[in-house]
Amino acid sequence: MLFRKKCPLCGYWTIFRVTTRFYRAREKCTYCGGEKSVPWNRKVQADMDEKEKYLTEMETVCLELRCLKEPGDHVRLPFSSV
Ligand SMILES: [Zn+2]
Repeated sequence: MLFRKKCPLCGYWTIFRVTTRFYRAREKCTYCGGEKSVPWNRKVQADMDEKEKYLTEMETVCLELRCLKEPGDHVRLPFSSV
């Protein structure tokens, strides 16, 4: 699964790849390769879906977000986090 997020390691908004295994997930930045293990459950997934919806709405005012399509894509945005 892919989602968009600001990477705390490289500081760019990039595509993250999430792989889940039971109640843990690994989030990996497709730009710098930094990864992190996080808890995983329905709530985390629901929050992620909400954020993705919000980011899709933000695309109308923040055109850079539209550039994030493929793994490895990265942009700097005027806002730091969602
Ligand atoms: Zn990164």
